[in-house]
Amino acid sequence: MSAPEDLTATGGVRTIDVIRRKRDGHELSTAEIVHLVQGYTRGQIPDYQISAWLMAAFVRGLTRAETAALTDSMLHSGKILDLSEFAARKVDKHSTGGVGDKTSLILAPVVAAGGLIVPMISGRALGHTGGTLDKLESIPGFRVDLSLKRFREVLDACGCSMIGQTEEIAPADRKLYSLRDATGTVESPYLICASIMSKKLAEGIDALVLDVKTGSGSFMKTEKDAKFLAELMVETGQRMGKKTVALITDMDQPLGLRIGNALEVQECVEVLRGQGPQDLRDLSLELAAWMFHLGGCSTTIPQGRDLADQMIRSGRALATFCEMITLQRGDPTVIEDPSRLPRAKYQSDLLSAKSGYVSAIRSEEVGTAAVVLGAGREKKEDCVDPAVGMVLHKKVGDRVSAGEPLCTLHYNSTSRAGHARKLLEQSYQVMDEPPAPRPLIHSVTGKRDAR
Ligand code: URA
Repeated sequence: MSAPEDLTATGGVRTIDVIRRKRDGHELSTAEIVHLVQGYTRGQIPDYQISAWLMAAFVRGLTRAETAALTDSMLHSGKILDLSEFAARKVDKHSTGGVGDKTSLILAPVVAAGGLIVPMISGRALGHTGGTLDKLESIPGFRVDLSLKRFREVLDACGCSMIGQTEEIAPADRKLYSLRDATGTVESPYLICASIMSKKLAEGIDALVLDVKTGSGSFMKTEKDAKFLAELMVETGQRMGKKTVALITDMDQPLGLRIGNALEVQECVEVLRGQGPQDLRDLSLELAAWMFHLGGCSTTIPQGRDLADQMIRSGRALATFCEMITLQRGDPTVIEDPSRLPRAKYQSDLLSAKSGYVSAIRSEEVGTAAVVLGAGREKKEDCVDPAVGMVLHKKVGDRVSAGEPLCTLHYNSTSRAGHARKLLEQSYQVMDEPPAPRPLIHSVTGKRDAR
C-alpha cells in the first residue's frame, strides 16, 4: 500500500479534492495547479490521478488564469536556459502537430545558417501526428538526450541543436505529454498551449514562430478553434516578453509526400538540396522568413524568404544539418546515401478504384495508418519503427486514373499493413470534379507585436 498524502508538504491540498473540483467545473487556484504539476513531476502523484484530472480539464476547459498557472508551473518544473552568452538572437518554431509535418528539420539548419541561434526542444509522436524526436532518431546513432552542457556546445559549433524534454528542462511536459497521448486528452487548446509554451519558454529564446495547424490532420479541426489556440499561445509568449507570432496553416491533407520517420528525414534532405514537394518547400520558406524577421535578420517577410532560399541554394543549410547530425552523434553519411536510413522490408501500392480527381485526403486516418504501421505509439511504453510509413503519389487536386497508385505503404508487419490499408482507402476521396483549392497559409496572429 502506498503512504497517505503528506498534507503538510502540500500546504493542505489533497489531490482527490482538486480532481473533484475540476470535474465539477470550478476554477482551480494557482496553488492547486502547482500541487498537481509538482507532485506528478516528483513522482508523488500517480498516473491514474493525473489522468483523471487531465480528462476533467479536457472536458471542462481551463480559464485564462488556470492556463497561465499550468504553463508557468510546467515551465518552472525544470531549468530555464540562459543563452545570453550567444550574441545572435535565439529564435525557435513549434508546430501544434500534423501528418507529414517535418518542417523543424529543415528550419533549424536554414535559420542557423542564416546567422541566428535555434535552440530547439521538441516532442515525440502524439496521437495521429508525428514527432520531431522520433524522426531525428531514425538517423542511426542520433542522440536527442544531450546534457545542457552538450546542447550549448552544439549550438556554439553550428547554431542549432534539437533535443527532447529532459530531467532538467520541462520535465513536467515530458511526463504529461506521454500520459495525454495514452488517455485521449491531447486535443485541448489549454493543454496544448501549456505543453508547447512551457517547453519553448524554457529555451532561453528571444522570439518564437508558432505553426498552428488546421484541418482534418490537425488537433484543431476548424479554423475557429485554430485561431483560439493561436491567440492563447501568442498571448502567453507576449506575456513572457517574447516576440511571438502564430501562422495558421493548412493540415487538411498531409504535408509533403512522405509520412513516417526515416521517410520524412529523406524528404527534408531533398528540400535542403533545393528539391522536394512544393507545399513543404513553400511552408518551410514562409516559417523561416518569419523566424528571420523576428530575429532581426530581415525587415520584411519577402526578404526573409529570400534569405532562406539563399541558405538552401548555397548548400549552407544542408552543411549545417550535416554538422548538427555529426555533433549529436548521428551518421551524417545518410545525407549522401539515404539507403543508409532504416528501410521497411515490404512495400505495396494502394490503387485508385476509380478515375477522377483526388478531392480529399482525410489526414487523421493517414496519421492513424502510420501509427498502426508502427511509426507512432499506441501506448506510452511502445517503441516506434523508424522505417515504416507511406509515400503519397497523389495529393488533393491531382488527376488519377482507375488502377493508378495513390500511395505506397512501407511496412514490416503484414497484419498491420492490412489495417493501415483500410484506413488509407477510407481517407482518399476521388470525385469527378477537382475541389476548390485551400490556401497553405490561412492567417497570421500577432503580426503587430512582430514589427
Ligand atoms: N506539440 C506539443 O509539444 N504539445 C502538444 O500538446 C501538441 C503538440
